[in-house]
Amino acid sequence: MSANQHICEHCGSPSVQLKHVTRSFGKGANLLVIEGIPLWSCSNCGESYFTAATMHEVERIKTLRRSVAVSRPVSVAAFEAQAHA
Ligand SMILES: [Zn+2]
Repeated sequence: MSANQHICEHCGSPSVQLKHVTRSFGKGANLLVIEGIPLWSCSNCGESYFTAATMHEVERIKTLRRSVAVSRPVSVAAFEAQAHA
């Protein structure tokens, strides 16, 4: 547990919990997947959000992707809602 008390940015409730999620940015040859991004999820108001510091770090990783990212074979599927409509 973190020693830092955290409150929801939206409703100020302390019932906000830290999760770690995977997000992808860009697409095709520029697709970048970042794992373990801290996401705050509030059980009081239902909001989930990244802090400004987290978004800043995400931007830094995207900028430095050539030096910090490793290439892994990954399965990528596109959800095509139109195909079966
Ligand atoms: Zn909240």
